[in-house]
Amino acid sequence: YRRWRVLSAHMAQYYADFSLSPSQLMDLRNDFIEEARKGLRGEKSTCLMAPTMVDILPDGDEVGEYFALDIGGTNFRVIHVTLSMDKGEVVHVEMEDNAIPEEYFTCHGDMLFDLLASALVDFAKRHGRHSDDRPLPIGFCFSFPCTHTAIGEAVMVKLTKKFENEGMVGQDPAKGLQRALDRQKGNFKVAALINDSVGTLAGGCYVDADTKIGVILGTGTNACYAEQRSNIAALAKGRKNGREQQHPLMAINTEWGNFAAPSSPFTDIDRELDEETPNAGSHRFEKMVSGMYLGELARRAILRLAEQAQLFGPEVPPQLREPWALTSAALSKIDEDGSWLLSTTARELSETLGLPAALCTHTTCLRVKQVCHLVARRSAAVVAACLAGLLQQIDRDGAHTPMAPTTIAVDGGLFEHYQAYRAYLREYLDQMLGKQVSSLVKIVQIRDASSMGAAYLAAAIDEET
Ligand code: ADP
Repeated sequence: YRRWRVLSAHMAQYYADFSLSPSQLMDLRNDFIEEARKGLRGEKSTCLMAPTMVDILPDGDEVGEYFALDIGGTNFRVIHVTLSMDKGEVVHVEMEDNAIPEEYFTCHGDMLFDLLASALVDFAKRHGRHSDDRPLPIGFCFSFPCTHTAIGEAVMVKLTKKFENEGMVGQDPAKGLQRALDRQKGNFKVAALINDSVGTLAGGCYVDADTKIGVILGTGTNACYAEQRSNIAALAKGRKNGREQQHPLMAINTEWGNFAAPSSPFTDIDRELDEETPNAGSHRFEKMVSGMYLGELARRAILRLAEQAQLFGPEVPPQLREPWALTSAALSKIDEDGSWLLSTTARELSETLGLPAALCTHTTCLRVKQVCHLVARRSAAVVAACLAGLLQQIDRDGAHTPMAPTTIAVDGGLFEHYQAYRAYLREYLDQMLGKQVSSLVKIVQIRDASSMGAAYLAAAIDEET
Protein backbone atom coordinates (compact mmCIF):
# COMPACT_ATOMS: atom_id res chain seq x y z
CA TYR A 1 0.00 0.00 0.00
CA ARG A 2 2.89 2.35 0.83
CA ARG A 3 4.42 1.69 -2.59
CA TRP A 4 1.09 2.51 -4.24
CA ARG A 5 0.91 5.80 -2.30
CA VAL A 6 4.44 6.84 -3.25
CA LEU A 7 3.78 5.96 -6.88
CA SER A 8 0.54 7.94 -6.91
CA ALA A 9 2.28 10.94 -5.39
CA HIS A 10 4.94 10.82 -8.12
CA MET A 11 2.33 10.52 -10.82
CA ALA A 12 0.40 13.46 -9.38
CA GLN A 13 3.60 15.49 -9.53
CA TYR A 14 4.11 14.54 -13.19
CA TYR A 15 0.53 15.55 -13.96
CA ALA A 16 1.15 18.89 -12.27
CA ASP A 17 4.50 19.50 -14.00
CA PHE A 18 3.67 18.34 -17.50
CA SER A 19 0.09 19.52 -17.95
CA LEU A 20 -0.07 23.21 -18.74
CA SER A 21 -2.99 25.35 -17.69
CA PRO A 22 -4.57 27.82 -20.13
CA SER A 23 -2.90 30.70 -18.30
CA GLN A 24 0.54 29.03 -18.42
CA LEU A 25 0.09 28.57 -22.15
CA MET A 26 -0.92 32.21 -22.59
CA ASP A 27 2.19 33.29 -20.66
CA LEU A 28 4.32 31.10 -22.88
CA ARG A 29 2.69 32.52 -25.99
CA ASN A 30 3.32 36.07 -24.80
CA ASP A 31 6.92 35.33 -23.90
CA PHE A 32 7.45 33.78 -27.31
CA ILE A 33 6.07 36.87 -29.04
CA GLU A 34 8.40 39.01 -26.96
CA GLU A 35 11.45 36.89 -27.80
CA ALA A 36 10.47 36.87 -31.48
CA ARG A 37 10.11 40.63 -31.58
CA LYS A 38 13.44 41.10 -29.83
CA GLY A 39 15.01 38.88 -32.46
CA LEU A 40 13.39 40.86 -35.26
CA ARG A 41 14.69 44.09 -33.77
CA GLY A 42 18.19 42.61 -33.73
CA GLU A 43 18.34 42.51 -29.93
CA LYS A 44 19.67 39.60 -27.93
CA SER A 45 17.05 36.86 -28.03
CA THR A 46 16.80 33.10 -27.74
CA CYS A 47 15.04 33.13 -31.14
CA LEU A 48 17.41 34.06 -33.95
CA MET A 49 14.62 35.26 -36.30
CA ALA A 50 16.99 35.14 -39.26
CA PRO A 51 15.88 36.83 -42.51
CA THR A 52 16.02 34.16 -45.23
CA MET A 53 15.93 36.74 -48.07
CA VAL A 54 13.12 34.64 -49.55
CA ASP A 55 10.60 37.33 -50.46
CA ILE A 56 8.80 35.44 -53.21
CA LEU A 57 6.71 32.44 -52.34
CA PRO A 58 4.89 30.13 -54.72
CA ASP A 59 1.13 30.52 -55.05
CA GLY A 60 0.24 27.40 -56.99
CA ASP A 61 0.16 29.11 -60.39
CA GLU A 62 3.69 28.01 -61.26
CA VAL A 63 3.94 25.77 -64.30
CA GLY A 64 6.77 23.78 -65.83
CA GLU A 65 9.48 21.38 -64.78
CA TYR A 66 12.01 22.08 -62.10
CA PHE A 67 14.77 20.37 -60.21
CA ALA A 68 15.96 20.65 -56.63
CA LEU A 69 18.77 19.32 -54.48
CA ASP A 70 18.35 18.71 -50.78
CA ILE A 71 21.15 17.96 -48.31
CA GLY A 72 21.10 18.08 -44.54
CA GLY A 73 21.91 14.72 -43.01
CA THR A 74 23.35 11.42 -44.04
CA ASN A 75 21.61 11.40 -47.42
CA PHE A 76 21.04 13.87 -50.17
CA ARG A 77 18.13 13.97 -52.55
CA VAL A 78 17.65 15.05 -56.15
CA ILE A 79 14.15 15.74 -57.30
CA HIS A 80 12.36 16.62 -60.51
CA VAL A 81 8.82 17.99 -60.47
CA THR A 82 6.42 18.81 -63.27
CA LEU A 83 3.97 21.47 -62.19
CA SER A 84 0.53 21.47 -63.73
CA MET A 85 -1.51 24.27 -65.27
CA ASP A 86 -4.08 23.47 -62.59
CA LYS A 87 -3.49 25.54 -59.48
CA GLY A 88 -1.44 23.78 -56.83
CA GLU A 89 -1.30 20.50 -58.75
CA VAL A 90 1.81 18.47 -59.42
CA VAL A 91 1.71 16.28 -62.51
CA HIS A 92 4.75 14.24 -61.80
CA VAL A 93 7.49 13.86 -59.19
CA GLU A 94 10.65 11.83 -59.43
CA MET A 95 13.14 11.73 -56.63
CA GLU A 96 16.28 9.86 -55.83
CA ASP A 97 17.92 9.54 -52.43
CA ASN A 98 21.65 8.99 -52.36
CA ALA A 99 23.75 8.03 -49.37
CA ILE A 100 26.74 10.29 -48.82
CA PRO A 101 29.86 8.07 -48.93
CA GLU A 102 31.94 8.30 -45.75
CA GLU A 103 34.89 10.17 -47.32
CA TYR A 104 32.61 13.04 -48.35
CA PHE A 105 32.08 14.11 -44.75
CA THR A 106 35.74 15.10 -44.46
CA CYS A 107 36.78 15.96 -48.03
CA HIS A 108 37.17 19.50 -49.37
CA GLY A 109 33.85 21.32 -49.86
CA ASP A 110 34.39 21.49 -53.63
CA MET A 111 34.48 17.73 -53.79
CA LEU A 112 31.22 17.49 -51.85
CA PHE A 113 29.60 19.95 -54.27
CA ASP A 114 30.96 17.93 -57.19
CA LEU A 115 29.20 14.88 -55.76
CA LEU A 116 25.89 16.77 -55.61
CA ALA A 117 26.33 18.38 -59.02
CA SER A 118 27.22 15.18 -60.81
CA ALA A 119 24.25 13.39 -59.21
CA LEU A 120 21.94 16.17 -60.41
CA VAL A 121 23.37 16.27 -63.93
CA ASP A 122 23.15 12.51 -64.21
CA PHE A 123 19.62 12.45 -62.78
CA ALA A 124 18.50 15.23 -65.16
CA LYS A 125 19.82 13.26 -68.13
CA ARG A 126 17.66 10.35 -67.06
CA HIS A 127 14.54 12.29 -66.02
CA GLY A 128 14.59 15.76 -67.49
CA ARG A 129 12.58 16.63 -70.50
CA HIS A 130 13.57 20.24 -70.96
CA SER A 131 15.38 21.01 -74.17
CA ASP A 132 15.84 24.77 -74.40
CA ASP A 133 19.26 26.34 -73.92
CA ARG A 134 18.32 28.54 -71.05
CA PRO A 135 19.84 27.47 -67.71
CA LEU A 136 17.12 25.87 -65.64
CA PRO A 137 16.68 27.42 -62.17
CA ILE A 138 17.09 24.92 -59.35
CA GLY A 139 16.20 25.08 -55.69
CA PHE A 140 18.90 24.11 -53.21
CA CYS A 141 17.80 23.06 -49.75
CA PHE A 142 20.91 23.24 -47.60
CA SER A 143 20.00 22.66 -43.96
CA PHE A 144 23.04 24.11 -42.22
CA PRO A 145 23.41 27.44 -40.40
CA CYS A 146 23.88 30.21 -42.97
CA THR A 147 23.53 33.97 -43.05
CA HIS A 148 21.51 34.87 -46.11
CA THR A 149 22.53 37.91 -48.10
CA ALA A 150 20.20 37.65 -51.11
CA ILE A 151 17.62 35.19 -52.37
CA GLY A 152 20.12 32.67 -53.75
CA GLU A 153 23.12 33.80 -51.78
CA ALA A 154 24.47 33.13 -48.28
CA VAL A 155 27.53 32.74 -46.13
CA MET A 156 27.88 29.45 -44.33
CA VAL A 157 28.25 29.94 -40.57
CA LYS A 158 29.22 26.46 -39.45
CA LEU A 159 29.15 22.82 -40.31
CA THR A 160 26.96 20.57 -38.19
CA LYS A 161 26.20 16.87 -37.77
CA LYS A 162 28.94 14.64 -39.20
CA PHE A 163 30.33 17.18 -41.67
CA GLU A 164 33.91 18.46 -41.26
CA ASN A 165 34.65 19.70 -44.77
CA GLU A 166 37.30 22.34 -45.36
CA GLY A 167 36.55 25.30 -47.58
CA MET A 168 32.86 25.59 -46.68
CA VAL A 169 32.56 27.86 -43.65
CA GLY A 170 32.61 31.54 -44.63
CA GLN A 171 31.82 30.64 -48.25
CA ASP A 172 28.60 30.80 -50.26
CA PRO A 173 27.14 27.28 -50.69
CA ALA A 174 25.04 28.42 -53.67
CA LYS A 175 28.19 29.60 -55.48
CA GLY A 176 29.99 26.41 -54.47
CA LEU A 177 27.23 24.32 -56.03
CA GLN A 178 27.01 26.61 -59.08
CA ARG A 179 30.74 26.24 -59.77
CA ALA A 180 30.44 22.48 -59.46
CA LEU A 181 27.46 22.44 -61.85
CA ASP A 182 29.47 24.52 -64.31
CA ARG A 183 32.39 22.10 -64.02
CA GLN A 184 29.98 19.28 -64.83
CA LYS A 185 28.59 21.25 -67.79
CA GLY A 186 25.14 21.16 -66.20
CA ASN A 187 22.86 23.79 -67.64
CA PHE A 188 21.45 24.92 -64.29
CA LYS A 189 21.31 28.08 -62.27
CA VAL A 190 21.06 27.90 -58.47
CA ALA A 191 18.09 30.22 -57.92
CA ALA A 192 17.08 29.62 -54.32
CA LEU A 193 19.05 28.60 -51.25
CA ILE A 194 16.84 27.58 -48.35
CA ASN A 195 16.65 25.39 -45.28
CA ASP A 196 14.00 22.79 -44.51
CA SER A 197 11.64 25.11 -42.63
CA VAL A 198 11.57 27.59 -45.53
CA GLY A 199 10.97 24.60 -47.79
CA THR A 200 7.97 23.62 -45.70
CA LEU A 201 6.57 27.14 -45.91
CA ALA A 202 7.10 27.21 -49.69
CA GLY A 203 5.72 23.69 -50.03
CA GLY A 204 2.60 24.75 -48.15
CA CYS A 205 2.21 27.92 -50.24
CA TYR A 206 2.17 25.98 -53.49
CA VAL A 207 -0.68 23.69 -52.47
CA ASP A 208 -2.53 26.26 -50.35
CA ALA A 209 -1.91 29.95 -50.95
CA ASP A 210 -3.18 30.79 -47.43
CA THR A 211 -0.05 29.21 -45.94
CA LYS A 212 1.76 31.61 -43.65
CA ILE A 213 3.80 29.30 -41.43
CA GLY A 214 6.02 26.28 -42.08
CA VAL A 215 6.89 24.00 -39.18
CA ILE A 216 9.30 21.11 -38.81
CA LEU A 217 8.34 18.47 -36.26
CA GLY A 218 10.79 15.64 -36.83
CA THR A 219 14.09 14.76 -35.20
CA GLY A 220 14.37 18.49 -34.50
CA THR A 221 11.92 21.37 -34.62
CA ASN A 222 11.85 24.78 -36.27
CA ALA A 223 9.40 27.23 -37.79
CA CYS A 224 9.45 29.78 -40.55
CA TYR A 225 6.82 32.38 -41.41
CA ALA A 226 6.14 35.33 -43.67
CA GLU A 227 6.89 38.66 -41.93
CA GLN A 228 6.51 42.27 -43.02
CA ARG A 229 9.86 43.61 -44.19
CA SER A 230 9.30 46.77 -42.21
CA ASN A 231 9.44 44.73 -38.97
CA ILE A 232 12.87 43.26 -39.75
CA ALA A 233 15.57 45.55 -38.39
CA ALA A 234 18.42 43.78 -40.20
CA LEU A 235 16.94 44.76 -43.55
CA ALA A 236 16.81 48.44 -42.73
CA LYS A 237 20.63 48.49 -42.72
CA GLY A 238 21.05 46.39 -45.86
CA ARG A 239 21.30 47.60 -49.40
CA LYS A 240 18.04 48.51 -51.09
CA ASN A 241 17.45 47.02 -54.50
CA GLY A 242 13.96 48.14 -55.40
CA ARG A 243 12.27 44.86 -54.42
CA GLU A 244 10.86 46.32 -51.23
CA GLN A 245 7.58 47.65 -52.62
CA GLN A 246 6.95 44.68 -54.84
CA HIS A 247 7.70 42.12 -52.16
CA PRO A 248 6.66 43.44 -48.77
CA LEU A 249 6.92 40.05 -47.02
CA MET A 250 9.96 37.97 -46.25
CA ALA A 251 10.29 34.47 -44.80
CA ILE A 252 11.83 34.55 -41.34
CA ASN A 253 13.59 31.52 -39.95
CA THR A 254 12.65 31.68 -36.25
CA GLU A 255 15.08 28.97 -35.06
CA TRP A 256 12.53 28.44 -32.30
CA GLY A 257 14.28 25.25 -31.19
CA ASN A 258 16.40 27.49 -28.99
CA PHE A 259 13.45 29.42 -27.51
CA ALA A 260 13.51 29.77 -23.71
CA ALA A 261 11.68 32.14 -21.40
CA PRO A 262 10.65 32.45 -17.75
CA SER A 263 7.37 30.72 -18.56
CA SER A 264 9.03 27.71 -20.26
CA PRO A 265 7.74 24.70 -18.32
CA PHE A 266 11.13 23.12 -17.62
CA THR A 267 11.02 20.30 -15.07
CA ASP A 268 13.85 18.55 -13.20
CA ILE A 269 13.71 15.89 -15.89
CA ASP A 270 14.27 18.49 -18.63
CA ARG A 271 17.22 19.90 -16.71
CA GLU A 272 18.72 16.45 -16.25
CA LEU A 273 18.36 15.64 -19.94
CA ASP A 274 19.76 18.99 -20.97
CA GLU A 275 22.88 18.46 -18.87
CA GLU A 276 23.56 15.17 -20.61
CA THR A 277 23.44 16.67 -24.11
CA PRO A 278 26.50 18.07 -25.93
CA ASN A 279 24.69 21.41 -26.45
CA ALA A 280 23.66 21.83 -22.79
CA GLY A 281 21.88 25.11 -22.12
CA SER A 282 20.83 25.62 -25.70
CA HIS A 283 17.86 24.34 -27.74
CA ARG A 284 15.77 23.97 -24.60
CA PHE A 285 12.48 24.24 -26.52
CA GLU A 286 13.55 21.55 -28.98
CA LYS A 287 14.43 19.32 -26.03
CA MET A 288 10.81 19.50 -24.80
CA VAL A 289 9.32 19.05 -28.23
CA SER A 290 11.06 17.06 -30.92
CA GLY A 291 11.25 13.41 -31.87
CA MET A 292 14.89 13.20 -30.85
CA TYR A 293 13.99 13.84 -27.19
CA LEU A 294 10.43 12.78 -26.36
CA GLY A 295 11.27 9.12 -25.83
CA GLU A 296 14.29 10.01 -23.71
CA LEU A 297 12.25 12.36 -21.51
CA ALA A 298 9.72 9.59 -20.94
CA ARG A 299 12.50 7.08 -20.18
CA ARG A 300 13.93 9.39 -17.55
CA ALA A 301 10.51 9.92 -16.00
CA ILE A 302 9.87 6.15 -15.95
CA LEU A 303 13.33 5.50 -14.49
CA ARG A 304 12.52 7.88 -11.62
CA LEU A 305 9.34 5.96 -10.94
CA ALA A 306 11.37 2.75 -10.91
CA GLU A 307 14.02 4.19 -8.58
CA GLN A 308 11.87 6.17 -6.23
CA ALA A 309 8.55 4.32 -6.29
CA GLN A 310 9.47 0.75 -7.26
CA LEU A 311 7.44 0.85 -10.47
CA PHE A 312 8.99 -2.45 -11.58
CA GLY A 313 9.32 -3.90 -8.10
CA PRO A 314 12.28 -3.75 -5.71
CA GLU A 315 14.92 -3.93 -8.47
CA VAL A 316 15.38 -1.26 -11.13
CA PRO A 317 15.65 -3.07 -14.47
CA PRO A 318 19.15 -2.19 -15.76
CA GLN A 319 17.85 -1.74 -19.33
CA LEU A 320 15.92 1.27 -18.15
CA ARG A 321 19.19 3.02 -17.33
CA GLU A 322 20.32 2.94 -20.95
CA PRO A 323 20.17 6.53 -22.31
CA TRP A 324 18.07 6.96 -25.48
CA ALA A 325 16.78 3.38 -25.20
CA LEU A 326 13.17 4.53 -25.57
CA THR A 327 12.56 6.08 -28.98
CA SER A 328 9.80 8.52 -29.80
CA ALA A 329 8.34 5.95 -32.19
CA ALA A 330 7.98 3.56 -29.22
CA LEU A 331 6.54 6.36 -27.10
CA SER A 332 3.90 7.06 -29.72
CA LYS A 333 2.91 3.39 -29.94
CA ILE A 334 2.55 3.27 -26.17
CA ASP A 335 0.56 6.50 -26.02
CA GLU A 336 -1.76 5.30 -28.77
CA ASP A 337 -2.11 1.82 -27.30
CA GLY A 338 -5.76 0.82 -27.37
CA SER A 339 -5.11 -2.93 -27.06
CA TRP A 340 -6.70 -5.26 -24.56
CA LEU A 341 -4.83 -5.00 -21.24
CA LEU A 342 -2.22 -2.80 -22.90
CA SER A 343 -0.49 -5.73 -24.51
CA THR A 344 1.12 -3.39 -27.09
CA THR A 345 2.76 -1.39 -24.31
CA ALA A 346 3.99 -4.58 -22.68
CA ARG A 347 5.41 -5.69 -26.03
CA GLU A 348 7.13 -2.33 -26.64
CA LEU A 349 8.68 -2.46 -23.19
CA SER A 350 9.99 -5.95 -23.68
CA GLU A 351 11.01 -5.53 -27.32
CA THR A 352 12.52 -2.04 -27.42
CA LEU A 353 13.67 -1.75 -23.83
CA GLY A 354 14.35 -5.44 -23.32
CA LEU A 355 12.41 -5.61 -20.05
CA PRO A 356 11.37 -9.10 -18.92
CA ALA A 357 7.69 -9.69 -19.72
CA ALA A 358 6.99 -10.60 -16.09
CA LEU A 359 7.75 -7.01 -15.05
CA CYS A 360 5.33 -5.51 -17.54
CA THR A 361 2.10 -5.99 -15.64
CA HIS A 362 -1.06 -4.20 -16.59
CA THR A 363 -0.79 -1.60 -13.81
CA THR A 364 2.87 -0.94 -14.66
CA CYS A 365 2.00 -0.53 -18.33
CA LEU A 366 -0.76 1.88 -17.37
CA ARG A 367 1.72 4.15 -15.55
CA VAL A 368 4.18 3.97 -18.44
CA LYS A 369 1.41 4.90 -20.84
CA GLN A 370 0.40 7.86 -18.68
CA VAL A 371 3.97 9.15 -18.64
CA CYS A 372 4.29 8.87 -22.43
CA HIS A 373 0.96 10.62 -22.83
CA LEU A 374 1.99 13.52 -20.58
CA VAL A 375 5.32 14.03 -22.33
CA ALA A 376 3.71 14.04 -25.78
CA ARG A 377 0.87 16.33 -24.77
CA ARG A 378 3.26 18.87 -23.29
CA SER A 379 5.20 18.91 -26.55
CA ALA A 380 2.03 19.62 -28.53
CA ALA A 381 0.93 22.24 -25.98
CA VAL A 382 4.13 24.30 -26.16
CA VAL A 383 4.19 24.07 -29.96
CA ALA A 384 0.57 25.29 -30.04
CA ALA A 385 1.48 28.20 -27.75
CA CYS A 386 4.28 29.31 -30.08
CA LEU A 387 2.06 28.87 -33.13
CA ALA A 388 -0.58 31.04 -31.45
CA GLY A 389 2.24 33.56 -30.90
CA LEU A 390 3.26 33.49 -34.57
CA LEU A 391 -0.37 33.88 -35.68
CA GLN A 392 -0.65 36.89 -33.43
CA GLN A 393 2.59 38.33 -34.82
CA ILE A 394 1.39 37.83 -38.41
CA ASP A 395 -1.88 39.56 -37.63
CA ARG A 396 -0.65 42.30 -35.30
CA ASP A 397 -3.31 44.76 -36.34
CA GLY A 398 -6.17 42.31 -36.44
CA ALA A 399 -7.73 42.43 -33.00
CA HIS A 400 -5.92 39.32 -31.81
CA THR A 401 -7.36 37.03 -34.44
CA PRO A 402 -6.05 35.89 -37.78
CA MET A 403 -8.17 38.02 -40.09
CA ALA A 404 -8.03 35.69 -43.03
CA PRO A 405 -7.98 31.92 -43.26
CA THR A 406 -4.45 30.80 -42.44
CA THR A 407 -2.73 27.54 -43.13
CA ILE A 408 0.15 26.08 -41.17
CA ALA A 409 2.24 23.62 -43.19
CA VAL A 410 4.01 20.92 -41.21
CA ASP A 411 6.59 18.31 -42.13
CA GLY A 412 8.52 15.79 -40.09
CA GLY A 413 8.26 12.25 -38.79
CA LEU A 414 6.84 13.19 -35.39
CA PHE A 415 3.83 14.86 -36.98
CA GLU A 416 3.53 12.43 -39.86
CA HIS A 417 3.61 9.15 -37.98
CA TYR A 418 1.98 10.10 -34.68
CA GLN A 419 -1.72 10.58 -35.20
CA ALA A 420 -2.62 11.30 -31.58
CA TYR A 421 0.03 14.04 -31.51
CA ARG A 422 -1.69 15.79 -34.40
CA ALA A 423 -4.95 15.66 -32.45
CA TYR A 424 -3.29 17.15 -29.32
CA LEU A 425 -1.85 19.98 -31.40
CA ARG A 426 -5.26 20.77 -32.86
CA GLU A 427 -6.87 20.58 -29.43
CA TYR A 428 -4.41 23.03 -27.86
CA LEU A 429 -4.66 25.41 -30.79
CA ASP A 430 -8.47 25.37 -30.48
CA GLN A 431 -8.10 26.02 -26.78
CA MET A 432 -5.73 28.94 -27.27
CA LEU A 433 -7.44 30.64 -30.18
CA GLY A 434 -11.04 29.85 -29.35
CA LYS A 435 -13.08 27.56 -31.58
CA GLN A 436 -14.26 30.28 -33.93
CA VAL A 437 -10.86 31.73 -34.80
CA SER A 438 -9.25 28.31 -34.73
CA SER A 439 -11.68 27.12 -37.39
CA LEU A 440 -9.94 29.57 -39.76
CA VAL A 441 -6.60 27.92 -39.13
CA LYS A 442 -5.76 24.77 -41.04
CA ILE A 443 -2.84 22.53 -40.16
CA VAL A 444 -1.74 20.53 -43.18
CA GLN A 445 0.98 18.01 -43.66
CA ILE A 446 3.42 18.57 -46.50
CA ARG A 447 5.37 15.45 -47.40
CA ASP A 448 8.97 15.82 -48.60
CA ALA A 449 8.53 19.52 -47.91
CA SER A 450 12.15 20.60 -48.04
CA SER A 451 12.88 19.21 -51.50
CA MET A 452 9.44 19.90 -52.96
CA GLY A 453 9.50 23.41 -51.45
CA ALA A 454 12.91 24.10 -52.99
CA ALA A 455 11.60 23.08 -56.42
CA TYR A 456 8.42 25.20 -56.06
CA LEU A 457 10.50 28.16 -55.00
CA ALA A 458 12.78 27.78 -58.01
CA ALA A 459 9.60 27.83 -60.12
CA ALA A 460 8.27 30.94 -58.38
CA ILE A 461 11.58 32.77 -58.87
CA ASP A 462 11.78 31.64 -62.47
CA GLU A 463 8.32 33.00 -63.14
CA GLU A 464 9.22 36.35 -61.78
CA THR A 465 12.38 36.81 -63.81
P1 ADP B 1 14.41 14.33 -39.92
O1 ADP B 1 13.65 15.21 -38.98
O2 ADP B 1 15.51 13.59 -39.25
O3 ADP B 1 14.79 15.01 -41.19
P2 ADP B 1 11.94 12.95 -40.27
O4 ADP B 1 11.19 14.19 -40.57
O5 ADP B 1 11.61 11.73 -41.06
O6 ADP B 1 13.47 13.16 -40.39
O7 ADP B 1 11.70 12.65 -38.74
C1 ADP B 1 12.23 11.52 -38.17
C2 ADP B 1 11.94 11.58 -36.69
O8 ADP B 1 10.54 11.48 -36.46
C3 ADP B 1 12.58 10.47 -35.93
O9 ADP B 1 13.85 10.89 -35.46
C4 ADP B 1 11.63 10.25 -34.78
O10 ADP B 1 12.05 11.04 -33.70
C5 ADP B 1 10.32 10.77 -35.26
N1 ADP B 1 9.38 9.68 -35.52
C6 ADP B 1 9.43 8.79 -36.52
N2 ADP B 1 8.41 7.92 -36.44
C7 ADP B 1 7.69 8.27 -35.35
C8 ADP B 1 6.52 7.78 -34.71
N3 ADP B 1 5.86 6.71 -35.15
N4 ADP B 1 6.09 8.42 -33.60
C9 ADP B 1 6.74 9.47 -33.12
N5 ADP B 1 7.85 9.98 -33.66
C10 ADP B 1 8.32 9.39 -34.76
